[in-house]
Amino acid sequence: MAECPFCRLLGSRRHAARIAEFEHSVAFLHLDQTHPGRSVLILKRHFDHYHELPEPLFTAFNRDLRRLAAALLRELRPQRLNYAVLGNVVPHVHWHLIPRYLDDPNPGAPPWPAGEPRRLTADQYAALARRLGLAVAGRDDAPPSASGPAFQSSPGAPGVRGPWLRRLIPNRLDPLL
Ligand SMILES: [Zn+2]
Repeated sequence: MAECPFCRLLGSRRHAARIAEFEHSVAFLHLDQTHPGRSVLILKRHFDHYHELPEPLFTAFNRDLRRLAAALLRELRPQRLNYAVLGNVVPHVHWHLIPRYLDDPNPGAPPWPAGEPRRLTADQYAALARRLGLAVAGRDDAPPSASGPAFQSSPGAPGVRGPWLRRLIPNRLDPLL
């Protein structure tokens, strides 16, 4: 659809935030990097509603989703990965993949609201997208095992933002950001 922003985005193969192309979808970094590595996985074909996907495409799209998820989990080692299909802003089927960390704004709770969006520089988007693209290309599709300690049961508990958390999450993006 010519007026659909995601259909237009799918045509820009050199977009800085483009992570990887899969069989039925393309992954991009979300502009808001409050949760480092937050991504969108956009179906190549335009469908407004997720339930409209024919069965073979539904299954294949989920296979793409699992490949991207595996790369995010292995490369960034978040405590958890959240998934969301919303479609309120752009009615073109896409997944949000939201890595969650012990020191993110709402640990142990839904990822929103999270305050002002965290934007990166163009170079930072490009570097992170390239890093995740390499992770997609270089890894098998095996579901990753859970990593690291569980969430704090009490969000905002003392110490949640302490420097020890940095050591718990050695593969976070600090060198990039
Ligand atoms: Zn579209």
